[in-house]
Amino acid sequence: MTKMKKLLALLLALVMVFALAACSSGSTEDTAEETSSEEFTTATEGVLTMATNAEFPPYEYYENDAVTGIDAEIAAAIAEKLGLELVIEDMAFDSIVAAVTSGKADMGMAGMTITEERLESVDFSEPYATGVQVVIVAEDSAITNVDDLFEGGYTIGVQSSTTGDLYATWDLEDTGLCTVERFNRGADAVAALTSGKIDCVIIDNEPAKAFAEANEGLVILDTAYTEEEYAICFSKDNTALSEAVNEALVELMEDGTVQSIIDKYISAD
Ligand code: GLN
Repeated sequence: MTKMKKLLALLLALVMVFALAACSSGSTEDTAEETSSEEFTTATEGVLTMATNAEFPPYEYYENDAVTGIDAEIAAAIAEKLGLELVIEDMAFDSIVAAVTSGKADMGMAGMTITEERLESVDFSEPYATGVQVVIVAEDSAITNVDDLFEGGYTIGVQSSTTGDLYATWDLEDTGLCTVERFNRGADAVAALTSGKIDCVIIDNEPAKAFAEANEGLVILDTAYTEEEYAICFSKDNTALSEAVNEALVELMEDGTVQSIIDKYISAD
């Protein structure tokens, strides 16, 4: 079931990419770039507003008073290409899609996985990074690999409305095997794990590494729960903007900028 959903999500992502490519090649070729950057409108003139949840290191987190990280830097590079000023709005993860569909934010960028549910309400850019859902446990835990979870009887912590929440709900709660506890922040789920209130946390691998490093006695299981793709989400009603942003993102992937930003934050170990 999980595999099916993943496949579907990937297929839909591909369809989306082709749709975007088809639209942008519809404009006259020699002026395609100028056209797309002239036609779009943003929530605030001259500004690219990015909705995020700055509790997801190394993609977005606070350093002093500013939101920094992989997504913040990629967004800044996109804004620069489009001649816009980047403004980052920090909010709860599950408010991002609403901020985008209501037009308050121009795009959502938050290590957000392309899923078929989200594709019902938003469009996604081409994927720019891979995420892996992993399981964090206490060092001495009886859970030593993902399959152990399917033995049942465990309390699983997740960040509310994330894909970790979805998988745990579908695979382990709806099947009556385990209990799922939902937290507003990944850090809160990890705190509950540290104090022994829950048995594990299912969360994306990069924040998991940061949390495991910051909290003694926690380890990440070697077996991953599932792999997924991160992309930028947009309102379905502003395709001129989503095409322009996607075009800029693709250029930044092709010229190596995106990879160099990722490498700056994630060591290839
Ligand atoms: N990748 C996960 C998702 O899209 C988690 C994202 C996050 O917590 N920022 O649901």
